[in-house]
Amino acid sequence: MKKVTTRAFSVLLLAALVVTGMGVYLFRLIRDGGDWATFYANDSIYTNGVLNRGSVTDRNGVVLAAAGEDAFHYAEDSAVRRGCLHAVGDLGGNIGTSVLSIFRDKFINYSFFTGTTTKGGSMKLTLDADVTAAAYNALSGKKGTVLVYNYQTGEIICMVSTPGWDPEQGVPSDPEDGAFINRAISSSFTPGSVFKLVTMAAAIENIPDIWDQTFTCTGSTVIGGQTVKCSGVHGTLTIEKGLACSCNVVFGEVSRQLGGALISQYAEKYGLTSAHTLNSDIPTAAGSVPAATGDGDAAWEGIGQYEDLVNPYAFLRFIGAIANGGTVVEPTLLYGKRCGVAKLMEPSTAQTLSEMMSYNVSYEYGAGNYPGLDLHAKTGTAETYGGSHAWFAGFITNSNAPLAFVVLAERAGSGYGVASPIANTVLQKAVEVLG
Ligand SMILES: [Zn+2]
Repeated sequence: MKKVTTRAFSVLLLAALVVTGMGVYLFRLIRDGGDWATFYANDSIYTNGVLNRGSVTDRNGVVLAAAGEDAFHYAEDSAVRRGCLHAVGDLGGNIGTSVLSIFRDKFINYSFFTGTTTKGGSMKLTLDADVTAAAYNALSGKKGTVLVYNYQTGEIICMVSTPGWDPEQGVPSDPEDGAFINRAISSSFTPGSVFKLVTMAAAIENIPDIWDQTFTCTGSTVIGGQTVKCSGVHGTLTIEKGLACSCNVVFGEVSRQLGGALISQYAEKYGLTSAHTLNSDIPTAAGSVPAATGDGDAAWEGIGQYEDLVNPYAFLRFIGAIANGGTVVEPTLLYGKRCGVAKLMEPSTAQTLSEMMSYNVSYEYGAGNYPGLDLHAKTGTAETYGGSHAWFAGFITNSNAPLAFVVLAERAGSGYGVASPIANTVLQKAVEVLG
């Protein structure tokens, strides 16, 4: 009797192990099936190591990457190939955040229920090949990024990062420094004066008499024992003109009134210190705006220097929220896929910032420099070791092209002199092709 019990127990144990094993396998199949099916050794989808199916197109069907009979090809136009490299990726998976790396199973058309099929997947992106090529050419060899998106639909029209390489030629033996990084989503930079928009928002909501205050800029001032230098001598001015001239004396004083902790809280509230995910799966880099304790450091924090670091994608979301009445429509790179909305700021604050950004253009930048664009913007010239980052961020309210943008040219000079003409070139093309 004892023997029978032992045997029955053994059988039960064995059955339990089998069931558990199947459970684990099923779990892993669901979780990892896409990776297994798209593994390079799966020779039904690879011929001599080359993917033999699938294509990626832009929003108009322009082929950006496609498997062919004997080889894998990229866009016909060189500027499109290079401009789309970091968003689309390459067959070798050299850019970890690219569509070809992150959505490989969709590209191959893997499905949990049907496995891989004989027909490759066709992925349509929201990018516009022409706008992307214009942005790539406008950067003209500078390191940097150009991001443009529709703040009403979330569609990313342009996401260029340089330097890169020509994917049709393969990775060069000596790639340029940072060539594998998508600067738009994977890097954070000193923001400089584009950050004054964050400080301005905090001032609107926390300094009741901000509109009645006047400031005097003699070219520099001393705050908390630190000399805060300005780029010019602006005389006596209001906060509106202070933002338009990007006066450091004005914003140093405003930042002192706000305090470093509050400015830091606003950066956090506007998503500038968080990591985000694009289309649920593409990770973006977090920024960092630590709260300065002393008045001098707080002044520089609100000016966008100190230890401030901002990711261009996160900044695009922030600009998108200003453009869209305080609510950000989350960006998407996959055509037809919406990614939800989030309220970032009070509608009245967004409205005031929007008006001030329009005033920046009419009062300081010159509307004539951006013909046909209903432009709202802010320049930034961020001091860093080795040179200044040129920033230009904002949006246009043209009815056919509700677009927000961030242009960053690394260690390339002033925001107004370098980044703003790049933005104009790209936006002119965008209005033309989207109209
Ligand atoms: Zn000044």
